[in-house]
Amino acid sequence: MKAVGYAADHAGAPLGHFEFERREQGVHDVTLEVLYCGVCHSDIHYVNNDWGRSNYPVVPGHEIVGRVLSVGDKVTRFSPGDTVGVGCFVDSCRHCFSCDEGEEQFCAEGPTMTYGGFERESQRPTFGGYSTNYVVDEKYTLKISDQADLAATAPLLCAGITTWSPLKRYQVGPGQLVGVMGLGGLGHIGVKFAKAFGAEVVMFTTSTAKTEDAKKLGADHVVLSSDRETMKAWTNRLDFLLDTVSAPHDLNINLRLLKRDGVCCLVGLPDKPLSFSPFMTAGRKNITGSMMGGIEETQEMLDFCAEHGIGCDVELIDIQSINTAYKRVLKSDVKYRFVIDMASFNSDNSAWKQSLPQSQG
Ligand code: NAP
Ligand code: ZN
Ligand code: ZN
Repeated sequence: MKAVGYAADHAGAPLGHFEFERREQGVHDVTLEVLYCGVCHSDIHYVNNDWGRSNYPVVPGHEIVGRVLSVGDKVTRFSPGDTVGVGCFVDSCRHCFSCDEGEEQFCAEGPTMTYGGFERESQRPTFGGYSTNYVVDEKYTLKISDQADLAATAPLLCAGITTWSPLKRYQVGPGQLVGVMGLGGLGHIGVKFAKAFGAEVVMFTTSTAKTEDAKKLGADHVVLSSDRETMKAWTNRLDFLLDTVSAPHDLNINLRLLKRDGVCCLVGLPDKPLSFSPFMTAGRKNITGSMMGGIEETQEMLDFCAEHGIGCDVELIDIQSINTAYKRVLKSDVKYRFVIDMASFNSDNSAWKQSLPQSQG
């Protein structure tokens, strides 16, 4: 099936117009028109080959909200007209221990990523949501409430589930002092969730200008992490710290904040290794990590957000502004997630709809 999007064709290249083919819709697939796609910092890491394993050309985008235009004959959960979401992965082996437990993000064979991956059977490259359409197995498709603000919902598909999953796993809630480090796309929704779960929340930021916003998002305390004296006052106090920082930083600082048996969960993925002194883990302090979340858990998170009116704070852009948006994200200058509104791009590039399966289109 034809598709049009924005791609980078080598490391660090600006994104530009790109025409490509997706797989034809199979019997278990839904075909969606992309309405909104969030801009995750991982997209930028990937385009820049920060992790040393990017495949090009890459069409980024794994925070996709779309409208179903057509479904395969065996699809049971979706119909044309439904609003749906696609997150970071679109397939997995379906039989390993993690897939069996609904933790497809940790699939033993590796999940098929929404972009930069290869489809399991055909080995066709996957291209992400900075594009007109997506063809995806219904098993990896999320239901989005019609009541939801769709632009504010798109970043939940990655930023939302990536913060929700560890906060839930470590049972963050009332009576706990919980830190969130880095006020960006992940951090701002992480604060909202930690607050919604009843914790007392401390936001650690390097940006003085974000103090007021952090409070509005729900932080009870805001700490400038570069201010050594203020940081000292938070020594040995946190039950849990969610680290969303996208650049290399000193983990000794994180460990110092934890109380005995406290947990620091790293979700940020800087391009260089992070380090800490083993002495700093005395007090049985824990460092762990987390990646995205499973499909069932993602649906739970989306349903919770729809029910409680939780969404991301977004700045809407046209796809033509994507390269400027990347520059601003790298300067930590976004409140707090860019989301691409695909409407005008879709109307300028609608020819692909002629290749929709006739019976359903
Ligand atoms: P983002 O919007 O750019 O936010 C990152 C924040 O980190 C910035 O707003 C800034 O917060 C802080 N920061 C940036 N550079 C810093 C530096 N040099 N020192 C200290 N703090 C710095 O990015 P995002 O989309 O939230 O993603 C954050 C990270 O998580 C990225 O590395 C991304 O790849 C990763 N990620 C991981 C997963 C996963 O499954 N584990 C999923 C999605 C994203 P302040 O201005 O408040 O200091
Ligand atoms: Zn992401
Ligand atoms: Zn698996």
